[in-house]
Amino acid sequence: MSDHDIDPTSPRMAPKPEVTKIDGRELKPSTLMMGYGYDPVLSEGSLKPPIFLTSTFAFPSAADGKRHFEGITGKRPGGADGLVYSRFNAPNQEILEDRLSVWDGAEDALSFSSGMTAICVLMLAYASQNDVIVHSGPLYAASEGFVAKVLAKFGVTYVDFPAGATREEIDAVIEKAQAQADEQGGKVCMVYLESPGNPTNALVDIEAVRASVDAAQLDCPIAIDNTFLGPLWQRPLDQGADIVVYSLTKYVGGHSDLVAGSIAGPKKWMEPVRMLRNTMGGICDPNTAWMLMRSLETVELRMNRAGENAAKVCEFLAQHPKVEGLGYLGMIKDARQQDIYDRHCKGAGSTFSLLLKGGEAECFRFLDALKIAKLAVSLGGTETLASHPASMTHLSVAEGRRAELGISDNLVRISIGIEDPDDLIADFTQALETV
Ligand SMILES: *Cc1c(COP(=O)(O)O)cnc(C)c1O
Repeated sequence: MSDHDIDPTSPRMAPKPEVTKIDGRELKPSTLMMGYGYDPVLSEGSLKPPIFLTSTFAFPSAADGKRHFEGITGKRPGGADGLVYSRFNAPNQEILEDRLSVWDGAEDALSFSSGMTAICVLMLAYASQNDVIVHSGPLYAASEGFVAKVLAKFGVTYVDFPAGATREEIDAVIEKAQAQADEQGGKVCMVYLESPGNPTNALVDIEAVRASVDAAQLDCPIAIDNTFLGPLWQRPLDQGADIVVYSLTKYVGGHSDLVAGSIAGPKKWMEPVRMLRNTMGGICDPNTAWMLMRSLETVELRMNRAGENAAKVCEFLAQHPKVEGLGYLGMIKDARQQDIYDRHCKGAGSTFSLLLKGGEAECFRFLDALKIAKLAVSLGGTETLASHPASMTHLSVAEGRRAELGISDNLVRISIGIEDPDDLIADFTQALETV
């Protein structure tokens, strides 16, 4: 008998129960990331999950096949209790989804091939013809475009409100949305938030939105794009959001080497999205899911270091004579924004805007002079990135709207990585000399 012909009746072949507590102590997400949802016994003892490259799964019996399909098609509540076909789900994605749920304290999570796939499938799952979406502004440009241009083709309209809005202002917006829905013969189908907004870092008062939605007795989910602060620095489900949305491409993936997305929340809100994903596809692929599990093992370490680095860099930038101002959550100037921050956030993040004295020409000289920081869009990676939103990510936004959103020509967006902070300060020092 060779070493790996293990006797299947031996106790060492028995699957081990999932450990999430020791002596009543709940284990922290950073501990659970090393093994949660995966038992090496089921995969030849492989410490890390193998990558399961298969399009389909063999059923133990025809009756099992029938039972699995009853779950997939919704004929039986509770979803599939076995794997069927890789467009629906597969082992690497299931483990990833279990681990993503842990960070947000969610009952369930769904993975997608990009952040935008997650957002589009989520919205499509909830919007019917003539419905109204209420959303905060600004949104990630592609999210805003999906609502305003794509959903508009199906008679879906929207009402938006600025990120810093008060409870009274949000009440008024929801009232307007309800009137608009009545007029169109639809309903308010979703409240969609993004906080902090990009690139100004304006925060949405999630607790106030929850209170407004409850007071209006709206039966629709509050979803929030938590890409900029999650999963470490903001847990929106704790403030009353129903669904948390991520571009995993950013901090969670964290190495600028993959594109993926996810949503998480209670099963009740996840189920319609799962059904639509089963139909449309768009699930994350097994290789990317594996890479994300690798990334989740260090997400707390990376985000903590990036956050500490950003605090040091911003302290330096704030007192520099060529700097006009900073849009950094660690240095909020507005009392209302500070109050939201104190109630919602556990950290200031590492992505911020830097306002230089001057305009586009000064920003371009600064960006071209950087030696460590790379000139690229995206954020949340191990490396520091810098870009110019007015001429890059937000070029398609009309000039008037850009001004309204505070995206001026002298604004540089920076995402701080995990390099040595003094090296970064040296780089910014020499680049600012060219301004
Ligand atoms: C990048 C990003 C997205 C889109 O995610 P992709 O993974 O690029 O599809 C959505 N929202 C925010 C806030 C983002 O930064």
